[in-house]
Amino acid sequence: MKLAGRVGQVTPSLTLAIDAKAKAMKRDGIDVCSFSAGEPDFDTPNHIKLAAQTAIAQGKTRYGPAAGEPRLRDAIAHKLQTDNRLNYHAENIIVTNGGKHSLYNLMMALIEAGDEVIIPAPFWVSYPEMVKLAGGTPVIVPTTAESQYKITPDQLQNAITPQTRLLILNSPSNPTGMVYTPDEIRAIAQVVVDNDILVVSDEIYEKLLYDGAEHLSIGAASQEVFDRTIISSGFAKAYSMTGWRVGYLAAPIELITAVTKIQGHSTSNVCTFAQYGAIAALEGSQDCVEQMRLAFAERRLAILDLIDAMPGVTCVKPNGAFYVFINISKLGLSSLEFCDGLLNEQQVAVIPGIAFAADDHIRLSYATDMTTIERGLERLATFVKSKL
Ligand code: GLU
Repeated sequence: MKLAGRVGQVTPSLTLAIDAKAKAMKRDGIDVCSFSAGEPDFDTPNHIKLAAQTAIAQGKTRYGPAAGEPRLRDAIAHKLQTDNRLNYHAENIIVTNGGKHSLYNLMMALIEAGDEVIIPAPFWVSYPEMVKLAGGTPVIVPTTAESQYKITPDQLQNAITPQTRLLILNSPSNPTGMVYTPDEIRAIAQVVVDNDILVVSDEIYEKLLYDGAEHLSIGAASQEVFDRTIISSGFAKAYSMTGWRVGYLAAPIELITAVTKIQGHSTSNVCTFAQYGAIAALEGSQDCVEQMRLAFAERRLAILDLIDAMPGVTCVKPNGAFYVFINISKLGLSSLEFCDGLLNEQQVAVIPGIAFAADDHIRLSYATDMTTIERGLERLATFVKSKL
């Protein structure tokens, strides 16, 4: 069958592929320790599930407005005003089928052939593919462990050309777990304003911070940068709602109107009763978020200690999200060889760094239970030792 050319331009999502493989192995009774997809192992908090159940019972099972339930758009705007000091109102918000869909919609509404999108590497696997699907050109800016894998203002300035449309910023970062400090955000914001480009800030991990790290939403740095900012986020990571598929985009009204037009012809509204779960997530107590964060914080320390004690690999201490990004360059294996070997020989699933443009690294998600962390890291240590 002849497929559209755009299909050939993108690669399958490795995070999803490896996660699916690990889950299939588990179903077949294989004792796999999985650190693959960034998916919290907690159940969705009860009050959120109950709100969705009640919504079903009340008949909230019909088409809704393409941009989302008005009450949810209000609640998201309120959250962005109070948590992030961003002056958004309901009409600045569109509810999407998860954070991934927000970003995809944005690329569709904004990017066309000839447009360049700056993406600091290592980056989350789907960013460049979305840019390519929209016909644009991803401009990858490599960063190093020395700068904690963060793009510097000079690097950003040097990457900007007359074709630059957008910068993708992701803090806390997937896959590195690094968090830009407020000063670093302000410096990046200045370059965005000076060059009159746009920035999309993917803030899906904003609630997962450790060791006193602070999250400054770039749009709060100045009015000038706010006018050039788009926020992408969702409920999956902070509220353990990965399968619900509820995310959002916040942006100037003109852009939200454009994205709504696209959504009106593609997915229509996000599952109506799932949106009522999201309303409960925002309007209810935030204790559940903190409880999960505390559990991640404990796991983070445990996993970092185990990696520290492992000769042959290194890692920059992350202070956000739930990932550790491990340098495997001493072992002389590509990240795919490493991950295939680890899965086949030790039944441990991790994501190869090549998915994030860092072939000398692997990514582990520690959004899993402590027993898996202890057993999995023991097996990882055995594997690493056998390759040294
Ligand atoms: N965002 C998560 C990850 O990076 C989930 C999988 C995906 O959508 O890529 O593991």
